[in-house]
Amino acid sequence: MNLLETPIEYLKGVGPQRGDLLRKELGIHKYADLLNLFPNRYIDRTRYYKINELQNSNSEVQIVGKIINIKTVEQGKGRSRLVATFVDDTGQMELVWFQGQKWIRESIKINIPYVIFGKVTQFGATYNMAHPEMEFLEEHKASLRSAMQPVYPSTEKLGNKGISNKVINKMIQQLFVETQALFSENLPNYLLDELKLIPKNAALFNIHFPKSQDLLAKAQFRLKFEELFFIQLQLITKNLIRKHKIKGMPFERVGENFTDFYNNHLPFDLTNAQKRVLKEIRNDLGSNAQMNRLLQGDVGSGKTIVALMCMLLAKDNGFQSCLMAPTEILANQHFNGISELAKELNIKIKILTGSTKTAERKIIHEALENGTLDILIGTHALLEDKVQFHNLGLAIIDEQHRFGVEQRSKLWKKNDVPPHVLVMTATPIPRTLAMSLYGDLDISVIDELPPGRKPIQTVHRYDSNRLKVWKFLKDEIAKGRQVYIVYPLIQESEKMDYKDLMDGYESISRDFPLPQYSISIVHGKMKPADKDEEMRRFSEGKTNIMVATTVIEVGVNVPNASVMVIESAERFGLSQLHQLRGRVGRGAEQSYCILMTSHKLSNDSKIRMETMVRTNDGFEISEVDLKLRGPGDIMGKQQSGVLNLQIADLVKDKEILQLARHHAIKLLKDDAPMEKPEHAKLREAFIELSKKKTIWNYIS
Ligand code: ADP
Ligand code: MG
Repeated sequence: MNLLETPIEYLKGVGPQRGDLLRKELGIHKYADLLNLFPNRYIDRTRYYKINELQNSNSEVQIVGKIINIKTVEQGKGRSRLVATFVDDTGQMELVWFQGQKWIRESIKINIPYVIFGKVTQFGATYNMAHPEMEFLEEHKASLRSAMQPVYPSTEKLGNKGISNKVINKMIQQLFVETQALFSENLPNYLLDELKLIPKNAALFNIHFPKSQDLLAKAQFRLKFEELFFIQLQLITKNLIRKHKIKGMPFERVGENFTDFYNNHLPFDLTNAQKRVLKEIRNDLGSNAQMNRLLQGDVGSGKTIVALMCMLLAKDNGFQSCLMAPTEILANQHFNGISELAKELNIKIKILTGSTKTAERKIIHEALENGTLDILIGTHALLEDKVQFHNLGLAIIDEQHRFGVEQRSKLWKKNDVPPHVLVMTATPIPRTLAMSLYGDLDISVIDELPPGRKPIQTVHRYDSNRLKVWKFLKDEIAKGRQVYIVYPLIQESEKMDYKDLMDGYESISRDFPLPQYSISIVHGKMKPADKDEEMRRFSEGKTNIMVATTVIEVGVNVPNASVMVIESAERFGLSQLHQLRGRVGRGAEQSYCILMTSHKLSNDSKIRMETMVRTNDGFEISEVDLKLRGPGDIMGKQQSGVLNLQIADLVKDKEILQLARHHAIKLLKDDAPMEKPEHAKLREAFIELSKKKTIWNYIS
C-alpha cells in the first residue's frame, strides 16, 4: 500500500485524539492530506537582528545572544513576572514571562547561545520581548525547520487543544521522516524541463521547509502549476469525451432561411465580433458533436440577432429550437424583437410563459408536437413536462446566471439526443474564472459594440446633491429623453425596500408633477399584466420616468431612455450595477448613469463606485468584482466547489492558470488518453485525482 494512504493517527505524535481533531478541523484523514496542507504564509527567519538595530516597530525579529541573568520581579497583589537579561555583542535587552515562570526558570540555561524570536516593544530606554520563542543556536542550525518559517492554516479549536503551528510543523517533519520524503513525480519530464519546474520531491520539501526565498518561490510555482494543470486536464478531457460520446445532430445545411435572412433582411451590418461568433457556432453545429457553448457579450452587444440566426440554421435543417429567458418581460421582449426581425421569413414563432392562457397553451403544445412550430420563446414554463417537442435541435438560454444547473439539464431531457446548447450571458466572467469553471464549455465572446454607440457617462452623486440631479433629469426630459430611477430590492429586507421604493415614488411624483410629467412604476408585487402595461407605456414614450426595482435589470430595451439613476447604489453589486447601466445607451443620444449614495461608504463600496465611473468595459468590471468578492461569491456557493484550491489563487495566479491550460491542451491534443510511456505517471495521478475530485459539471 502506498504509505501516503496511511490513516493520520498512525503518524508518530498524532494518535487517535489528535487524529480526530485533524480530521474534523482540517479534513486531514491520511498522510497525504497532511503532506498537502500548505502554509498560508511564511515568517522570514533569514534575517538575524542585532540588539542595537531594534526599533519599536512591533514587528517580529530574531536575535542571537545569551541570557546572562534571570530574576523574578514582584508586581504586587501576589503577581510576578520573570525577567531575563539577554545580550549580544551590541547591547542588551529584556525577555519577559508572565506565565509558566517556574518551568521556564528551570529550563533556561545561562550563558549558552540562543536564537530568540518574537515581537519587540520599547519601555523607556530598554527593549523587551514577551514570551519569546527560544531555541539553542546549535539546535537551530541543525533543525529541519528552515529560515522561512511556515504558518499553517488552523482553527481556534486546534489552538485550544494544543495543536499549535509548531506542533503541526513537527508532525510534518515526522511525516517526512517516516516516508523518507520519497514522493513520486507526477508530471512528465519534458514539462519539468521546458517550464523549469523543480521536481515534486523538492517542491514538497521546500513548501514545508523552504531552504531559501528562491526555492520557496520555485516550490510554490511548481505546486500551483500542478494543481491548475490537473484541473485543466480534467475539464478538457471532459469536453473531449462529450464531443466523442454525445453525438449531436449535425446541422449540415446552410439553407434558405438563413441565407435569405442574411442576404435580404439584416437590419444592419453585423459587427465583426458577431460574424466571428456566428462562424464559431456554425462550426459546432455542423460537426457531429453536440454543441455546448457559452456566448458572452456585454449588454447591448447584439446577442439576440445571433440567437435568431442560430435558430434559422436549426429550421433549415429540419429542427425546432427554443429560447428561454429568466423573466416574462424579457421573454416578451425577445418574442417581439425576434418576430420583428423574422417577419419576412416563413417561420412560426410562439411565446409560452406563466401567463399564457390555457387555450393558447393547447395550440402551442400541439404545434410543438406535430412539428409545425419552429421556434418557441418563453420562461421557465418551457421546462414543464407537458411541453414536448417534435424534434428539439437547439436550446438557447439567455442570462444563464438566473437559472440553476438542474433547470438547464431539464432542457436536455426533452429529446433522445440532447439538443445543441447555447448559453448567452451578459455578465462577463473573468477569463480566469471562465477557464477554471467553464473549461469544459466552449466560449465565444462578442467583444465589440455595434457602431455609433456613445459610451455612457457615469457619475457618482451623494444624496445631498439630489436637487441638482433632479434639475438634470428635467433638462433631459425637456429634450424628449426618458429616465429610469431604480431602487434596490434585496430579498431579506423586502419590506423596507418596498417602503423605500414607495417613499421614493411619492417624492418623485411631487418633484415631477402632472400634467407636465408622467411616471410609470414597476415592482415585484405587481401582477405581471400590470407590469407589462406599465412597461409598455414607458417603452411607447407615454411616460417620462420609470420608477422600478431591479425588475428591469434584465433585457429591457427602450432606446429613447437615456438616463439611469440608481438609488442606494452602494447596495448593489458591481455586476448588477453594470447590468442596470446597460439599460441606457441603446439609442443614438448621449446617455448617463447616475449613482446615488449616502456619504457613508465602505471601502469596497467606494471601489465599486469608482470602477463604474471609470469604465464601461464589462470584463474590466468583472475582474474588479472578482478581486472584491472572490470567486465563490461570484459564482454562488454551490458552484464554487471546484474552487477549493489548495495552493493556487485564481486572482493572483492568472498567468500560471493560462500556462497550465495551454500545456494541458497541448498535451491532450498530442495524447488524449495519456497512453504514451512518458505520460504513464501523469495518467496514474490523473485517475487517482479524478476518483477523489469530480469537477462540478456546468451544463449537464
Ligand atoms: P444584447 O446582447 O444585450 O442582448 P441586443 O441583441 O438586445 O443586445 O442588441 C442591442 C441593440 O443593438 C438592439 O437594438 C439591436 O437591434 C442592436 N444591434 C445589434 N447588433 C447590431 C449591429 N451589428 N449594428 C447595429 N445595431 C445592432
Ligand atoms: Mg439580450
